Amino acid sequence: MGIRSVFDGGELRREVEKSGIDPKFIPKIWKHILISAKDEDWDWEKQVPSLPSSAYSLLRSNFKTPLSSSIHSVFHSADNLTTKLLIQLHHNHGPFVEAVIMRYDTRLGKYAGQPRPGGLRATLCISSQVGCKMGCNFCATGSMGFKNNLSSGEIVEQLVHASTFSQIRNVVFMGMGEPLNNYSAVVEAVRIMTGLPFQLSSKRITISTVGIIHAINKLHDDLPGLNLAVSLHARPRHPLPDNACCSCFSFGKTHGFTASLSKEKSAENIY
Ligand code: SF4
Repeated sequence: MGIRSVFDGGELRREVEKSGIDPKFIPKIWKHILISAKDEDWDWEKQVPSLPSSAYSLLRSNFKTPLSSSIHSVFHSADNLTTKLLIQLHHNHGPFVEAVIMRYDTRLGKYAGQPRPGGLRATLCISSQVGCKMGCNFCATGSMGFKNNLSSGEIVEQLVHASTFSQIRNVVFMGMGEPLNNYSAVVEAVRIMTGLPFQLSSKRITISTVGIIHAINKLHDDLPGLNLAVSLHARPRHPLPDNACCSCFSFGKTHGFTASLSKEKSAENIY
C-alpha cells in the first residue's frame, strides 16, 4: 500500500470492504485514534478494542502507526492564543506543512452592547498542498512553487494533531496550498471532518480560494452549506481595475455573497 494515512477514507473503505469487514467499524477506528493520538507505543488491539480479527490484520499490515504524519515542532505565541504546528509527512521522511490553532474567547467581544454568548473557541487553519502553483507574490508558500498534493488523510491528520492541543470548533483551509487545486482530496477530507467521530458542522468549515470558478461551481453541489472565502489581491503599484476578477464578482452575485476587496495589497474575505 505504500505510505498512506488511515484517514484516507476512500482507500480505507475499499480495503475494508475487500476484506469482507463491515465499514461501520471505520468511524470506531478513527474515534479511538483521536482519543489515543498522543500515545507513543501503538498496539492496534489495545488502543482500538473490539474489532473483528480480520480488521486487526488489515490495520497491522497496512498501517504500522495510526498516523502517517507527526508533529515536528510546536510554537506558541506569547499570549498563548496561537499555536503553530510544523507537521512532517510520510513517517518523518517527508515534507513539512503547517497548521495553526487560533483561540478566541467570544466573551471578550460585545454584541448589541452585551458580552457575546459562547466561550473559548478554537479555529484550525490547515494546509491542503505542499507548496502552491498559484504564485501570489505576497505569499511564502507561493514562492516555493508546487511540490505535492496532500491526501485526504494527510489533511484530516492535521485536525487530529490539533485536537490534542485544543477542542477545534472551526476549520479554515487557509494554510499552504490552493485547496481547489486539490479538489477531490479536500472534498473527501471535509466529508470525513463532518462525519463521525469529528462531527464538525459544515457551517464551521471555510474553504479559501483565489477564485477557481469551475471548482467553486462544483463545490456548491458537492458540499452544500460550506463557507467559501475568495481571496483577491493586487500588487501595491498595480491596483486592481474596477472590473477586476469579474468572474468572482458575478459568481458572488449569483450565489449571494459579497466581495470585500483591498486594491492595495492584501487578501480579504468574502462570505
Ligand atoms: S493561493 Fe494561497 S497558498 Fe497559493 S500562493 Fe496564493 S496565497 Fe499562497
